[in-house]
Amino acid sequence: KVRVRFAPSPTGGLHLGGVRTALFNYLFAKKNGGDFILRVEDTDQTRFVEGAEDYIHDCLKWCGIHPDESPLKEGEFGPYRQSERKASYRAYAEKLVSEGKAYYAFDLPEELEAAREQSPNFTYGHSTRMKMKNSLSLPEAEVQALLEKGTPHVIRIKIPADETIQFTDMIRGVVTFETNLVDDKVLLKADNMPTYHLAVVVDDYLMKISHIFRGEEWLPSAPVHILLWEYLGWKQEMPQWVHLPLILKPDGPGKLSKRDGDRLGFPVFAMNWHDPKSGETTMGFREMGFLPESFVNMLALLGWNDGTDQEIFSLEELTEKFSLERINNSGAKFDFEKAKWFNHEWIQKLSISVLSEHIHPILTRQHVDTETKYLESVVALVRDRLTFLTDFWDHASFFFKKPEEYDLDAILKRWNDEKTTFFTNITESLDAFEPWHSEELESFYKLAIQASGMKMGELMLPLRIMLVGGKFGPHVFDIVATLGKAETIARIRKGLD
Ligand code: GLU
Repeated sequence: KVRVRFAPSPTGGLHLGGVRTALFNYLFAKKNGGDFILRVEDTDQTRFVEGAEDYIHDCLKWCGIHPDESPLKEGEFGPYRQSERKASYRAYAEKLVSEGKAYYAFDLPEELEAAREQSPNFTYGHSTRMKMKNSLSLPEAEVQALLEKGTPHVIRIKIPADETIQFTDMIRGVVTFETNLVDDKVLLKADNMPTYHLAVVVDDYLMKISHIFRGEEWLPSAPVHILLWEYLGWKQEMPQWVHLPLILKPDGPGKLSKRDGDRLGFPVFAMNWHDPKSGETTMGFREMGFLPESFVNMLALLGWNDGTDQEIFSLEELTEKFSLERINNSGAKFDFEKAKWFNHEWIQKLSISVLSEHIHPILTRQHVDTETKYLESVVALVRDRLTFLTDFWDHASFFFKKPEEYDLDAILKRWNDEKTTFFTNITESLDAFEPWHSEELESFYKLAIQASGMKMGELMLPLRIMLVGGKFGPHVFDIVATLGKAETIARIRKGLD
């Protein structure tokens, strides 16, 4: 059975690359009738950040990526937080020590520091380990004595010299590593906590993970994980490897970072991240006014396509069409203009009622109470102008509040008594007018202008300004039709004052 996991470390906001990893995991699982698991990798206690795990749950929920198993939805392979699985890790590391595949290392931080100072390229490995303080270099009695005294120590994997480690990555094909270039990674830390390397391998085994989807930045760790898997001698088949291409800066080489977002003025996090330590809030796609539909669509196309020109995909469609073969093996440049395009397209594509639900919180924030039907008619009128949901208020506030200011320059210069009379009369005839539809209202108003002997242009702009406050907004008779009879007449009367 296909079982995949998204395994974030809860250390801050989720970068869009992280969400894309979650998405590809999810799509692959759903396409293959498998399970998508969320495992929280929180063994590094020094990096614990309050609120970061909740953020991950909220973020997946917002995107519509629902885990089959997670810390909030325990399955049979729990717990789903690594910090709660502590007990299981040490035994695996000890087993490796007893078989000579790992060793205790007693080097103090300052000793490692000194070694690095002496030779800047220092790595703990086959060429250096005998010069360091560990159970391979020290006599056995001394090692026993150190252990009995409770001397702080780590457990390191013993990487063999002069070998190659080869595996097949489902995206990049056969990948080969020289073991001489891989260092003896720490597996268990002095605080008894596993490192990422040990925990990830043990958990992928215990949770029966079938495929490991993760960012390309983890490729250099793969030989360590493969060796560990082999060293531990498990019967279970090793998971398949899928290292996803990086998401690149829009304007140069290298991985997209939060700093690029700050520098170029776009978000990199999925949702706002409030850092409890600095008190700073970093803007996210959601709060900027992205729909989850467009965010997910945009992410899927960063590194994947279905082989046609189609660009707009719903999550259901992605689930149907997703295939590993169509993931690119080179990095994908992030393009914020393109992200905006996706959002604009999705704003046009959603049903009016769903779009209105997304927009409703904007009104709540403005303390506006409105009926669903009215909101929906306004949304239908302005949606083609929206790039972000948050643009809604700029384009539509006048539908919910009478204008407080008027662009008087636009009309006052050429105002006269004739116009006052025209508008006074029109409020009366509008009061009796039916049906209250845009087209009928337009012909009615134009006939009234003709009858007055004045020019069209002279009486169109003032109407708009009385209703809206300025020279903007959709077609003026659509506005009249939507505002309704009482409100239109009230605004014209107020405008005449
Ligand atoms: N905990 C790692 C991270 O934060 C997970 C890497 C993996 O999926 O193996 O990205």
